[in-house]
Amino acid sequence: MIAATPADQRRLLDLQQVDTAIRQLQHRRANLPEQKALDENAARLATLATEYQSSREQLDRLARQQKWHEDEIASVDARRKGGEGRMYSGQITSERELESLRAELSSLRGRKNDLEDALLEIMEQREELEARVERLRTEHGELTRAVGDMTAARDLAAGDLDVELVQRGEERTAVAAEVPGPVLGYYDDLRARKDGVGVAELRGRTCMGCRLELTATELEDVAADSAHGLARCEQCGRILVPTG
Ligand SMILES: [Zn+2]
Repeated sequence: MIAATPADQRRLLDLQQVDTAIRQLQHRRANLPEQKALDENAARLATLATEYQSSREQLDRLARQQKWHEDEIASVDARRKGGEGRMYSGQITSERELESLRAELSSLRGRKNDLEDALLEIMEQREELEARVERLRTEHGELTRAVGDMTAARDLAAGDLDVELVQRGEERTAVAAEVPGPVLGYYDDLRARKDGVGVAELRGRTCMGCRLELTATELEDVAADSAHGLARCEQCGRILVPTG
């Protein structure tokens, strides 16, 4: 059995209190609601940025297609004007040649109609896409600001907890310095293995570590052991300190 005075044992309970507080702070620090909100929105922002980028690329493609169709229509128009010029110049007298020219002009009209239909469709798509890009740009801007605010809120919350953790850490160092080395080592080892709780009060008949009641014999043993050393709970194995 590890030797410890009743005063050492009470100090150990103080240390446990500080360690539990540190553990809770660390848990809160790792599970900040501000961090959760930030993570969700940062993920949404990344998706939005990708959507925005791909919509803009699509818009560029449509602009190139529009230009190509407009150029093509201009070229068809030029060929038609040339053909009509020849048609009405009176220089062509061969019926076969006139027939061929008429067929060519008709084919160019058909080609132009097709191109104009396609152009109209492209322009409609472009209009829709421009509206979408604008929406995404606005949404992206708003979300960027929101994520900035959330980052600040997270930093603030984390900062407060960090300050508290430093204070508690200093407190722990001070309390631990008052506990004999072997007692501290024994407690720390138990604490690591017993879910953060190495020492528990014996309140009445109940071990506050595992909440189980001790038998009369166990109570007598704890009373005897704790007079000069570290008593243990038979159920959970933690150090037991009678405080009654
Ligand atoms: Zn117990």
